[in-house]
Amino acid sequence: MNVLDLVRPEIRAMQAYSSARMEARGGSVLLNANESPWPHVGGGDGWNRYPDPQPAVLVARMAELYGVNADQLLVGRGSDEGIDLLVRAFCRAGQDAVLISPPTFGMYAVSARVQGAAVIEAPLRADFSLDINTLLAALTPAVKLVFVCAPNNPGGAGVPRAAILYLAEALAGRALLVVDEAYVEFVTPDGPDGSVATCIRDFDNLVVLRTLSKAWALAGVRIGTLLANADVVAMLRKIMPPYPLPVPCVDAAMQALSRAGELEMRGRVAAIRQERTRMQRTLAGLPGVRAVLPSQANFLTVRFHDAEAALVALWNAGVVVRDVRRHAGLGDALRVTIGSPEDNECVLQVLRVPLAARARAMPRAKQSP
Ligand SMILES: *Cc1c(COP(=O)(O)O)cnc(C)c1O
Repeated sequence: MNVLDLVRPEIRAMQAYSSARMEARGGSVLLNANESPWPHVGGGDGWNRYPDPQPAVLVARMAELYGVNADQLLVGRGSDEGIDLLVRAFCRAGQDAVLISPPTFGMYAVSARVQGAAVIEAPLRADFSLDINTLLAALTPAVKLVFVCAPNNPGGAGVPRAAILYLAEALAGRALLVVDEAYVEFVTPDGPDGSVATCIRDFDNLVVLRTLSKAWALAGVRIGTLLANADVVAMLRKIMPPYPLPVPCVDAAMQALSRAGELEMRGRVAAIRQERTRMQRTLAGLPGVRAVLPSQANFLTVRFHDAEAALVALWNAGVVVRDVRRHAGLGDALRVTIGSPEDNECVLQVLRVPLAARARAMPRAKQSP
């Protein structure tokens, strides 16, 4: 069975939109795309022209970075666009489904619902690690995409590479395994939870999502990359809007991905890992804290004896953290991003004061954030 047999038949049959930029490369008098002949006052180089749909220099650099071929890679507006394209290409409304392991990243279910696909849930274990057997037991013929977030958000647990490869093998011919590696740069080096990016050459049903939003410090620039079998990439390109990548964003990404930029990224990731260890230990020793979930990402999910009091105390001090209490099994938890050492000190300063004493001393905010 070919992985393209899993694609929606109408998408397989569809002719892609052919943009002016795709049809006519080269030439110096460009009169085919109804663009302005003049750049805007104050506008950057090339801003008056539609961008290359997949700029060759960016694609080449990312292929090198992630260890794949250029035709195995699709650059888009964050990983979110990759998730959305996959669901639209593989899930027929009212018929197909995606399989997720909650608590996990919310966009898998959101994209599925927008498409009219069902969302089947195979919960994580009680310790918030991925349960492969539960996941495989929940598989039905309707499931076209299985999403695994590694490391997971909001829990922070890494997923061993061996487990992911086992899953890819088990799903072959039945469904695509989509591994969201948004936080993989933060995993402990040489540990078991490293990237499976280069394994796309071994499994035609394996898709890996990478992003510049977290470790690369470019959340505002919106660049994410989908790595997969070249046929899958070509299929997704067909349904992608014609000019997804704004010229200034491509320029910003190329700057970040320079040798100097990569060095800076590695230094900062190391600093975040160090702060993660410090925060993990310190938070776990505070009286109001019940537990800190082990994390391979740039955040810690912290269980409190009174999460509401902690949230309000932090809020009153101007510290905004993520309320994750709506997730099953995390009714007492808040997710705290690892910030700069100064940011992290703000968190500790608030939480070192016993929360009960603080609640008595300070009027409660009228509305919890
Ligand atoms: C932050 C995050 C992303 C990144 O999304 P972008 O669209 O690339 O910014 C992807 N997946 C997970 C699980 C995340 O937490």
